[in-house]
Amino acid sequence: MRRIVTSRPGGVSGAPYDTFNLGDHVGDDLAAVQANRARLARAVDGSSLVWMRQVHGDQVAVIGSSPPPQPPDCDALVTNTRGLALAVLIADCVPVLLADPVAGVIGAAHAGREGVRRHVVARTVEAMVELGATPRRLDALLGPAICGRCYEVSQDLADEVESAAPGGATRTRTEAPGLDLRAALAAQLSRLGVGQVVSDPRCTAEESSLFSYRRDGVTGRQAGVIWLPA
Ligand SMILES: [Zn+2]
Repeated sequence: MRRIVTSRPGGVSGAPYDTFNLGDHVGDDLAAVQANRARLARAVDGSSLVWMRQVHGDQVAVIGSSPPPQPPDCDALVTNTRGLALAVLIADCVPVLLADPVAGVIGAAHAGREGVRRHVVARTVEAMVELGATPRRLDALLGPAICGRCYEVSQDLADEVESAAPGGATRTRTEAPGLDLRAALAAQLSRLGVGQVVSDPRCTAEESSLFSYRRDGVTGRQAGVIWLPA
């Protein structure tokens, strides 16, 4: 199993998408996005990239032996096919990359505030188990995302997310109500019995080499990608 998370440098997009923007829904020149995606395709061992049309929901698409003709409307992808590289686009939300290397089953989920509240990662694990994965063998990477010190929300929203998915309520650096999405996801994964959870500590809002919607508004997207080499 291999996985990567991209960052801003090395692409061809102009400001404010500079430069390695992989999102085709953010207003960037589509030829630039295609060039950037072609560069990413060369980095995934000849695997075929599978994208989604992310909608902040909890739907999981199980991908069979070949990539779908159009990106499915969903927030998670699961497969047991080698040579398919599952990609999730983010700019503050958490990319969750999951694998059971023994069963040869992988998953990629987009988990922002709504995804955490709606348990998209639990739905992803369930779909992986149906393909033969075992939770305790699962290895999960929580990629770069906005941190709890930066992610201010209203008290009502913090309470709502905390009651649906406990573990993420926190205070920001200005002592306002905040959400630590990766902490909430780590708690969810632990309750699901997932054996190993690793969290990339980088904060998209603080790290200038990463795209951040909270910081910049109109901006690009980086990608988390996971694949089983063919
Ligand atoms: Zn931060």
